[in-house]
Amino acid sequence: MRRIIRRKKSGYAAGLTLCLIGMLVMLVVLWNAWPNVSASPDIFSALKSYLWTGKLEFGFGISLKLIHLTIAGAATLFLGIFVLALSRQVFLVSSEGVLLQCPFCKNHWKARRAKGFAECPYCRQFVQPAVTLPK
Ligand SMILES: [Zn+2]
Repeated sequence: MRRIIRRKKSGYAAGLTLCLIGMLVMLVVLWNAWPNVSASPDIFSALKSYLWTGKLEFGFGISLKLIHLTIAGAATLFLGIFVLALSRQVFLVSSEGVLLQCPFCKNHWKARRAKGFAECPYCRQFVQPAVTLPK
C-alpha cells in the first residue's frame, strides 16, 4: 500500500514535470516565432506558415522544424495533464491519510500514511495493521 501511494506521488511529480517541459517547449517556439509574425496583419496564418518553415538551430548541425517542436511540446503537455489527472485523485486521498485496522481488536484509527507495523492505540499491541483508504 505504501509503495502504491509513493508511486502515485511520483506520478504526480512526473505529470507536473511533463506539463512544465511541454509548456516550456511551446514557449520557446513562440518566443522564436513572435518577432517574425507579430508584424503580420493575420497573426494566426503567419504563425502557422512560420511554424511549418521555421527551424530552431541547436548548433552542431542539429536543427528542428518548429512545427515538430510545437507538436512534441503539445504532446508532452497533454501527456503530463493525463498523468496528473490519473494520479491526482489518489494523491489527494493519500495526503489526507489512511485508515488502519488492528487485526486483533478490529478497531480503526487514522494515520498519516500506511505503515507495515504500528502500535494499536486501543489494545496497545504492536500489530501489522490492515490499510483502508478513508471514504
Ligand atoms: Zn488493537
